[in-house]
Amino acid sequence: MTKTFDVAVIGAGPGGYTAAIRAAQLGLSTVCIDEWKNTKGKPSLGGTCLNVGCIPSKALLESSENYERALHKFGEHGITVKDVAVDLVTMLARKDKIVDTFTGGISLLFRKNKVTSMHGRGRFVAGASPYQIEVRNGDAAEVIEAKHVIIATGSVPRQLPFAPVDNERIVDNAGALSLPQVPKRLGVIGAGVIGLEMGSVWKRLGSQVTILEALPNFLQAADEQVAREALRVFTKVAGLDIRLGVKIGAVKASKKGVAVEYADPAGEQKAEFDVLIVAVGRAPQSASLGAENVGLTLDGRGFIEVDDQCRTNLSNVYAIGDVVRGPMLAHKSSEEGVAVAEMIAGQSGHVDLETVPWVIYTAPEIAWVGKTEQELRAAGVDYRSGHFPFIVNGRARAIGETAGLVKMLADARTDRILGVHMIGPYASELIAEAVVAMEFGAASEDIARIVHAHPTLSEALHEAALAVDKRTINL
Ligand code: FAD
Ligand code: NAD
Repeated sequence: MTKTFDVAVIGAGPGGYTAAIRAAQLGLSTVCIDEWKNTKGKPSLGGTCLNVGCIPSKALLESSENYERALHKFGEHGITVKDVAVDLVTMLARKDKIVDTFTGGISLLFRKNKVTSMHGRGRFVAGASPYQIEVRNGDAAEVIEAKHVIIATGSVPRQLPFAPVDNERIVDNAGALSLPQVPKRLGVIGAGVIGLEMGSVWKRLGSQVTILEALPNFLQAADEQVAREALRVFTKVAGLDIRLGVKIGAVKASKKGVAVEYADPAGEQKAEFDVLIVAVGRAPQSASLGAENVGLTLDGRGFIEVDDQCRTNLSNVYAIGDVVRGPMLAHKSSEEGVAVAEMIAGQSGHVDLETVPWVIYTAPEIAWVGKTEQELRAAGVDYRSGHFPFIVNGRARAIGETAGLVKMLADARTDRILGVHMIGPYASELIAEAVVAMEFGAASEDIARIVHAHPTLSEALHEAALAVDKRTINL
């Protein structure tokens, strides 16, 4: 007999697994279908984020930063450490253990919340509501029925046809998280989020890192002042060799390494790398869904078309996360998952894409929410801007991480906060205050009047708010 569910979720990344848990919490019978297998060939829930994204990259960023601290920073604290060395096998095993703990944790959460978990590829075979979905695992296939479907199939790395990934010499994010040795010379195509995070990891562990970026401007999505400071610190302090305005020519992988020819503003260049990471963005994963069998509308790039409440063109079918418009971020996916599950249960749900925070986990970290200064200028918005550097923040001095700044942009007439941008220590944590402020429609004066503990990094945000009104105290 065909199993029937109120809700079928396809994909168990942060979007899908969160949607499934919330739907089950609300009393809906829920199945979550996912096809991910780990390198041991075992089903592994959590999608890109837990298996080869957010979680393992942050584990390696932390390990490599500890190594960097022990090598170069403990000395100024009067701490001498002898024979500092990297044991890459242990470092990678620690990362893998964290991944296993979290992916296994989702199975437990599914059991706790009574979500049925099915391993295999989910594909629409017929509809409309109820929809028939085939779940195929190798030769075995089963068709289930669901009244509502949430598509959360995520994204895959975008490929460059002239630099095919073999995950040995030319690697994508998965390969970059598991290099068996520290490469002497590491090339990266793309100075985006993955290029900078993974480039930082391997640079700290000893690689000479060259990042080749097509665009002439560094970190175009970030605020221009933050991007300028980031480029200065990453090149002058962290030692990343970042080439902008690059056009890649021939890429040849051999047993010895990867030869890359490219042109940059200085002319034709040749480089030899032991390993090349390709990190040029991600593409939606929608091809395997059987969209054509039910008439699901995709756009020209393969994103599933949705409205601002994640509704597709089919009744009772929603799509969330990386496979739809908006930033490709885990927290955006999971919040859309909650919103959609609540809408299916008859509640209201909404995700404000204007207040989704961005974080890049380099050292120093970069974080922002809302509009950048260049966006406000282009839109002709009358705004005021205030910023405060970490070098005069007491806590940043104590930590020994004084590079960077916090910047606040506010409407010149109403003083409503329009954007907050930061580069500095724990920016990933500090940005939360700015997100709350913007969600509540706060003015810069509100932050200026709130008591911030001393000495904390959050005082830099407080001072940036004061700076909007040109009344900083400590600068
Ligand atoms: P995914 O996580 O991609 O999950 C989709 C799941 O659906 C996968 O398990 C896939 O196998 C499965 N699937 C696909 N098609 C089918 C099908 N037909 N049937 C069954 N299953 C299917 N974001 C952050 O917010 N913070 C970070 O620090 C961060 N770091 C990152 C680091 C790296 C190296 C990478 C690559 C990404 C990072 N991201 C980060 C982005 C984040 O991983 C994604 O935005 C997030 O995983 C998207 O979640 P999702 O649920 O939409 O899709
Ligand atoms: P990205 O969009 O951040 O950066 C890709 C970069 O590659 C861009 O700067 C682009 O101009 C450049 N590029 C594209 N084609 C090129 C070419 N032919 N030659 C040289 N450069 C080229 O993409 P990504 O770094 O691959 O990351 C993918 C996505 O994953 C991110 O956009 C983000 O949504 C997510 N992610 C988030 C985090 C985080 O939240 N900390 C971390 C990693 C990944």
